[in-house]
Amino acid sequence: MKAEDRPGNHPVSADRIWSDLMNLAGITEAGRPYTRRSFSPKFLEGRAWLQERFRAAGLFPHVDASGNLIGRLPGSDPDAGTIALGSHSDTVPDGGRFDGTAGVIVALEIARALRERGITLRHTLEVIDCLAEEVSEFGLSCVGSRGLTGALQPQSLDLRKPDGETLREAITRIGGDPDRITATPRDDLRAWLELHIEQGRVLGEGRTDVGIVTSAVGITRVEIELTGMADHAGTTPMHLRHDALLAAAEVVAEVRAAALRRIEAGDGYFVATTGELTVTPNAANVVPGHVRLLVEARSENRPAMERFLDDLLPRVRAIAEAQGITLSSCHRLSDAPPAPFDPGLVGRLEEAARKNGLSHVRMPSGAGHDAVFFSRITPTAMVFVPSRAGRSHCPEEWTEKEELALGALVLFDAVLGLDRGN
Ligand SMILES: [Zn+2]
Repeated sequence: MKAEDRPGNHPVSADRIWSDLMNLAGITEAGRPYTRRSFSPKFLEGRAWLQERFRAAGLFPHVDASGNLIGRLPGSDPDAGTIALGSHSDTVPDGGRFDGTAGVIVALEIARALRERGITLRHTLEVIDCLAEEVSEFGLSCVGSRGLTGALQPQSLDLRKPDGETLREAITRIGGDPDRITATPRDDLRAWLELHIEQGRVLGEGRTDVGIVTSAVGITRVEIELTGMADHAGTTPMHLRHDALLAAAEVVAEVRAAALRRIEAGDGYFVATTGELTVTPNAANVVPGHVRLLVEARSENRPAMERFLDDLLPRVRAIAEAQGITLSSCHRLSDAPPAPFDPGLVGRLEEAARKNGLSHVRMPSGAGHDAVFFSRITPTAMVFVPSRAGRSHCPEEWTEKEELALGALVLFDAVLGLDRGN
């Protein structure tokens, strides 16, 4: 359904959202649209622009200890706590115009729409531009949401980017106060709601207006090392070889097969990828002696991940054994559990979609978001809007103006419902 086809008076303005988004997208490194890397001069220029937009909307802006830009709209009841909305304004290199910024601008539009209608919420409303959601030059993602939720490890502040600046120095430079970041999260938050582009094809292919996100998937990375024997590729007969890459090729196929078995078994959303291979010595005239594989699997449910690994790892051992290759290492490099979102908030978003006559579907998020960290300290949920052809993290990233406005409408109604407690 298009926004303009909806009956009645729309509280949110599709045009305002669009013009803000395009203006922010215009703040980009010259010659490589759309690039606004966290901590860079363009990032700070984008933030200065955002801060002005916050002020113009009647929000009181400040930068918190963790370097998040926050616009506050005080509520009528100081004891009611805070409803926080937002996402991030930093981009990947050569990124798009919507990833992150859509959530920040829609949050701003909701604050604007409330004021325009003369609505004062009981809760304080905060619009948050979370610092450095994308993996920054420090090698860390979600810096701001980690800091705000008490999840930033103190030693992370000593991380350095290639030019030598530490994260501590960088957060200070942009107006934060790293010495005040603590393991104690904020206790006034009553909800975190984040609109984001889907970055996938579930909504586009089904022509669904909005996705109601029920969880963010857990991500497990496994390192597998296969050791064979490097030999002369011309003089070693085929039957005498111990080719580690040949075994690795079978493992790659097995990773896919094991993921498909989880889906067939009804384990829900499941994806697995062998995205990185390091072949040694990696030369045309040498039989590969050693291969390191990085396998990454994502699942919305923890037992499914365990079943995947219990299924895959014995098969990897068998492949190595059958080929006379040594499985020299096989261990989990990292293991983040799924983040379930709040059923009450999910229901509220669903109700808002239904009330506005929008088609909607419940879905997990296959990508990480600031919402994952917020979900540890406050009820959290997300709204996805369609991404054309699922493209993201590239200049072709696209969402229609009307699609953004429909997502904003869902969020607007959910905020009102949440504030009124009905
Ligand atoms: Zn994002």
